[in-house]
Amino acid sequence: MTSIKAQSIEQWFDTNDSGPLLIAGPCSVESPEQVLETAQQIRANAPISLLRGGVWKPRTKPGSFEGVGAEAMRWLIDAGKAINTPTTVEVANAEHVELALKEGADVLWIGARTTVNPFYVQEIAEALKGVNIPVLVKNPIHAEIGLWAGAIERFQKAGTKRIAAVHRGFFSTAKSIYRNEPEWQHSFDLRALMPEIKIICDPSHIAGDRSLIKEVSQVAMDLGMEGLMIETHRDPDCALSDAKQQITPAKLGEIIRELKIHTEVPLQPNAELATLREALDVLDDAIVDVLQKRFAKVKDIAAIKEREGLSIFHMERWLKLVQEQTSKAEGKDMSPAFIHELFALIHKYSVDYQTELIKKDS
Ligand code: PEP
Ligand code: MN
Repeated sequence: MTSIKAQSIEQWFDTNDSGPLLIAGPCSVESPEQVLETAQQIRANAPISLLRGGVWKPRTKPGSFEGVGAEAMRWLIDAGKAINTPTTVEVANAEHVELALKEGADVLWIGARTTVNPFYVQEIAEALKGVNIPVLVKNPIHAEIGLWAGAIERFQKAGTKRIAAVHRGFFSTAKSIYRNEPEWQHSFDLRALMPEIKIICDPSHIAGDRSLIKEVSQVAMDLGMEGLMIETHRDPDCALSDAKQQITPAKLGEIIRELKIHTEVPLQPNAELATLREALDVLDDAIVDVLQKRFAKVKDIAAIKEREGLSIFHMERWLKLVQEQTSKAEGKDMSPAFIHELFALIHKYSVDYQTELIKKDS
């Protein structure tokens, strides 16, 4: 077990064993005093490596606080200097880049609403040609991993050497305790596509509520994410943006101290773990075999439906199937939500498969 330590961001980018990086600071830079006092309190309470602050704020509704703009850039830089910590700011176009570089920002981040738009990403990447500054790329609002990876690639192609991804959760219409669904598997997908890219978790924008920051941070650490970006404000309730999800520097310190971080990689593979993994491999093989058998039956069903002129999709059948299987999971050591999602997916592919078969025959 280890703990988060303050460290140089260059070293964090360049090495693989430097431990998780802590980025903290207010959602928005509101005044010179607010950002300075917040920064000083963070420095006193937590092992911060990078001070964040929003200067230009992309807001869902017009009329909300949209950031102070260029002037606040200087306040952020001054606060960073006062606590001897580099700073990071969100940029959403080439003009922001120019101003952030002129004032001396150390790291830039691309917000979720910018990653969705390849025109803006390209414009920012072009503006950074020949500039040696690290860039953090947040996931796009919707779970389209291609856009996330695509944005990272645009910076790579423009010559940006130090790039990390930020997982800030995904918009969902499903009822949830989170503001943005974590959908952790998308980070694994990005990891598989781009193993060299480190991933930082932003529990603040996932949670949307300060009472959930600790547990989301712990999951991120358990999943081996390489850092945390946590919105921190000297007086969260009075924050001009994202008030509900911001925490005090003292709370940040408490959360960071209590996180359990496992970094030791066992030199000898643990025999008990290896045996369990072998057992899982056998079970996974069995799952694929069963699915194969299921699809063979689906093929027979498709032939009958075509012969009898029946439609492929039957709403009642679909509802019954998903509900029956989901209710079987209740009371067992298994998430009914998982079973629901799994069967919805199996059924979706069964319908797609039947459609394909019938198309081929006609
Ligand atoms: C932010 O970090 O303040 C922000 C606007 O985040 P996101 O782009 O993830 O919504
Ligand atoms: Mn915010």
